[in-house]
Amino acid sequence: MPENEVSTPATPPTADGIVIRSTGSWYDVRTPAGVVPAKMRGKFRLRQGATTNPVAVGDNVSLRLNADETGLITEIHPRRNKLSRRAAGRRVGKEHVIVSNIDAALVMQSVELPKPNPGFVDRFLVMATYHDLEAGIILNKTDLQNENNRGNVAYFKDIYQDLGYSIFLVSAKSGEGMDALREFLNGKVSVIAGPSGAGKSTLLNALEPDLDLPTGEVSLKTKKGRHTTTNAALFPINATSYVADTPGIREYGLFGITAEDLGHYYPEFEPYLNQCKFPNCMHDHEPACAVKDAVEQDEIHPTRFHNYLSILDSLYLGEKDVGR
Ligand code: GDP
Ligand code: ZN
Repeated sequence: MPENEVSTPATPPTADGIVIRSTGSWYDVRTPAGVVPAKMRGKFRLRQGATTNPVAVGDNVSLRLNADETGLITEIHPRRNKLSRRAAGRRVGKEHVIVSNIDAALVMQSVELPKPNPGFVDRFLVMATYHDLEAGIILNKTDLQNENNRGNVAYFKDIYQDLGYSIFLVSAKSGEGMDALREFLNGKVSVIAGPSGAGKSTLLNALEPDLDLPTGEVSLKTKKGRHTTTNAALFPINATSYVADTPGIREYGLFGITAEDLGHYYPEFEPYLNQCKFPNCMHDHEPACAVKDAVEQDEIHPTRFHNYLSILDSLYLGEKDVGR
């Protein structure tokens, strides 16, 4: 018998990493030694149960490394948390995990072009608070501040800081305010979501020039392919920090939130929730509602309350859109 047939095969090399992108059946896994394209073991697909994707962007995984520099995902480590939506189409009603193991969630708006949308911000913050994420607001394009839009800046500074959210006033273009944001993002996986044109690509390029993302006209960017998929991706900012790109955030449901609970995700409602006449008060049409009284007394901002009612309506309707 030739010698090489009796020797035991070497144990294949392994690595741990984080899934930064998923493209159909391949996953990009960032390991200390670089990004490895990997497939998953078939048994994960059999085990997937109520979710449509057994491996999600953000998952910490173990890999077996193949000789051809690809990998096989052999283990998915337990998720700390996840953002999900209900799947559509063929898999309607199933849970689709958009991104997992998130530390922070920031909603991005701009002072101008496009101007801020407080309803979008509040829906996003409700979602983040429900998931127990450190939540905040990035207000970009501070270099465009002027007499006419000063109120846009003041609105966010005056209301949300007091509610415990972090506020970052930045100019991705001039670099103003970026150090504080960089410090906040450090060592975290952060979701940043905002309308097209708010300047997210410019901001990401400022954080990590190697990303070299296309910026500018939406139509041009689509041609270059950035928003052609609806899959999330993690952009590495440095060795330990990631920003999640989550295209289509407008379609995400407030998955798992009930109308009865919505008020609990409004920090400023908290002192009043036990003072409503009806213990199951939803602060809508009920009489003797302490939350509505607080709005009338200017203790709660009317825009915040208005947005609360609009989210409440959408939960009643079972509507899945987030960003109206
Ligand atoms: P995205 O759609 O959110 O990724 O937005 P982009 O990063 O492509 O930016 C949209 C437009 O806003 C581009 O023309 C950018 O040059 C511009 N922009 C981005 N950040 C700033 C900023 O801080 N100040 C100004 N004045 N313009 C900005
Ligand atoms: Zn009430």
